[in-house]
Amino acid sequence: MTALPAAAGPRPRRRGACPGAVAPMMVGDGLLVRVRVPAGVLPAAAARRIAALAALAAAHGNGLIELSHRGNLQIRGVTAATLPAVTAGLDALGLLAADAVSEAVRNVLTAPAAGIDADAVLDVRAPALALDARLAADAALHRLPPKFGFVVDGGGRAHLADSRTDLRFDAVATPAGPRLRVAAGGTLADAALLGLCTPGAVPDVAAAAAIAFLDLRAALPEPPRRMAGLVAAAGAAALRARIPGLEPLTDTAAPERPVRTVLGVRPGWLGVAFPFGRLTAATLETMADLANAHGTGELRLTPWRALLLPGAGGAAAEAARAAGGVLDDGDPRLAATACSGAAGCDVGTTDTHADALALVAAAPALIAAGGTLHVSGCAKGCARPGPAGVTLSAQDGRYDLGVLASPGGPVRARALDPAAAVAAVAALDRLLRANRRPGEDADAALARLAPEIDRLFAREEPPGA
Ligand code: SF4
Repeated sequence: MTALPAAAGPRPRRRGACPGAVAPMMVGDGLLVRVRVPAGVLPAAAARRIAALAALAAAHGNGLIELSHRGNLQIRGVTAATLPAVTAGLDALGLLAADAVSEAVRNVLTAPAAGIDADAVLDVRAPALALDARLAADAALHRLPPKFGFVVDGGGRAHLADSRTDLRFDAVATPAGPRLRVAAGGTLADAALLGLCTPGAVPDVAAAAAIAFLDLRAALPEPPRRMAGLVAAAGAAALRARIPGLEPLTDTAAPERPVRTVLGVRPGWLGVAFPFGRLTAATLETMADLANAHGTGELRLTPWRALLLPGAGGAAAEAARAAGGVLDDGDPRLAATACSGAAGCDVGTTDTHADALALVAAAPALIAAGGTLHVSGCAKGCARPGPAGVTLSAQDGRYDLGVLASPGGPVRARALDPAAAVAAVAALDRLLRANRRPGEDADAALARLAPEIDRLFAREEPPGA
């Protein structure tokens, strides 16, 4: 066991702050301890590690664990009195950073199926782990703003093409062998291209790009906090010129990625999701047992509120389902996101999870057309800061409803109590079902039907509005 780092102590919640294990954050149900797992791989002795982690949560917290949309594990409900024991336990598992500052910048999202996806271009575990280690060790990088993130993706069936980030490395096949396509500020489709690098060059290229970001933003009158803002303000060429070792790109088109298939029995893994990414310590122990008994004894964390069990198949599937897991990519519950709401956050005033499940039942047409629902306990939008097809954002026990909007964004109907919110979404769903064109996805239909939606909510003034 290493000497424990000086405790940063619990932090009060503030916008933009990121909790960790060294510096947990106080939320409504106690301290939230976020555990960053290098490359999302709970490794070789994983079953024991995971069982111990789950036991820590059960013994010292309230036994609730979350899978975050950044691929981290979060232990909820820890108290100030029990935090030292949780911290010591994580340190024994090798999951505690040296200090809060280095922990905060280790935001590397790695392809969850790296090394087990035969369709991937490259197994990116090694470059991702090297980048994680560089971020921890290189003090020059510790000035990066909170939430500045990296994606390292090998392609394949569990790809991260649509994960928006600050600096991304996407594997591509070239005549010279696999390379990483380096791009800044966005998804695979829209990030600004910088060049190619070898897998071994990822830490150096990432560090140079991060330093370039810090230097260039410092020269701007209003320094952007994220890479997309810097690219918009200073241009990708200014960034590119400061990154040595990049190979030029001859093919600038984004590589094709297949439709992502993650859940259920897949060649190479069993994928198991949990509604809203929340599971009990006992469920996590069950998943660890299944990984040990039927797989390689390893779990992979994903940004999709799901775990992958490498090597596990049908024998583990029923047990995972019985434990509350979701094994179908098309399960309607997965169309909804929700933060902890009143049950887990002192800002929340509504039961976001129960309300989200009621909304799922009210919106079959929207969900069948690929639409999304987001129920947020307030305008901060912790669970999904960006837009969803339908967003409900709570204040004082009532919801504001937005369409193709982010929490805190434009509102179509105000101050709906939960029952009225369900009724409003059901009305929107009927409108969509009656007017959606064949083959049109939900977001496109909602955008086209904006005038009808305006009329719908103008007619249906919410009670108390
Ligand atoms: S979005 Fe939800 S979890 Fe985040 S501060 Fe608001 S109520 Fe709390």
